[in-house]
Amino acid sequence: MTATAVSQRAFNFSAGPAVLPVSVLQEVQDELLCLPGARTSLMEMSHREKEFIEILHDAENSLRSLMGISDDYAVLFLQGGAALQFSMIPANLLRGTDKTAAYIQTGTWGKKAIGEAKKEGKINVVYDAATSNFNHVPAAGDYQVADDAAYLYYCSNETIQGVQFQSEPECPSSVPLISDASSDFLCRPLDINKYGLLYACAQKNAGPAGVTAVIIRRDLLDRGSDQLPGYLNYKNHAENDSEWNTPPTFAIYVLGKVARWLTNDIGGLDAMEKINREKSQLLYSAIDESDGFYASHAKPDCRSTMNVTFNLPNDELLTAFIKGAAENDLVNLKGHRSVGGIRASIYNAMPREGVECLANFMKDFASKNG
Ligand SMILES: *Cc1c(COP(=O)(O)O)cnc(C)c1O
Repeated sequence: MTATAVSQRAFNFSAGPAVLPVSVLQEVQDELLCLPGARTSLMEMSHREKEFIEILHDAENSLRSLMGISDDYAVLFLQGGAALQFSMIPANLLRGTDKTAAYIQTGTWGKKAIGEAKKEGKINVVYDAATSNFNHVPAAGDYQVADDAAYLYYCSNETIQGVQFQSEPECPSSVPLISDASSDFLCRPLDINKYGLLYACAQKNAGPAGVTAVIIRRDLLDRGSDQLPGYLNYKNHAENDSEWNTPPTFAIYVLGKVARWLTNDIGGLDAMEKINREKSQLLYSAIDESDGFYASHAKPDCRSTMNVTFNLPNDELLTAFIKGAAENDLVNLKGHRSVGGIRASIYNAMPREGVECLANFMKDFASKNG
């Protein structure tokens, strides 16, 4: 990437597809015409070629070592986005059983997952934060899950509302815990052994659109019926090393580079979490110290380190804020229409400098308009 191209980049607060590390983009650019040693571009290469198989294994192994994933789990690279997982999960783990699946609803994405799951079997929404406009997550004891539930599903970070679980929700040990971690994947360490399945589309925090990482405990692979459409059966993907059909090769390649960047440049997920806490705190302090000029959407104990959502006193000020921010190279800050206000998505790859710049802009804007 030329220096000019880099200097033309604004601070991009898009919720997804979203900011990627400049060093990763630069590597991709360097290797785009010809993958070193391969004599073709990665995009022109068979997914059965040894160079790609190495890239695939490298991406998987980087995720395994970053997250401490043991061989009890399969790591799959699938297409269809997070949205297909809304259906694949109940199709494999609920369809045809007489069990009920438990869902915790703390925002828009959980709600969509519930809508799809209803088509597959019986579900029980054990906790619903809709009546408070999705501004919090449940505490332990706020809901009950039956010991024989097919699974307990939740979304660890609701991207639109900016509401994040600080740790896993309580779940009986007999029930597989399932997480949509699309917008906080790799933002902090977690104990994967607590999960039956955890998945994330890449385009928020881990790469470009096109690939979804699914980490599934191997004993769950046998639950899908052979009558499922082949693509929808997790077992097919696990048995064929994510090559049951052509996987999204380019997206997997970039995801692998992002995982390496986290390991080598950032220093792992503990270090990433510390940075994310500091970055998000800069914005939450600007909100809390604005004497009520900015109103946080999420309750303080479940504020997201990834998507910071807040509102301004009125629509004129909101419009002026977005315009003024863009003039300061701070772009894509408009909140989702269902929540309104501002949403600053500050994923792993958002440099601290971008967050500092936004925090300063917020303070300046509040003092001029408050
Ligand atoms: C973006 C997002 C989705 C939807 O992802 P698609 O890849 O567009 O299907 C689902 N869940 C969460 C938490 C998201 O942030």
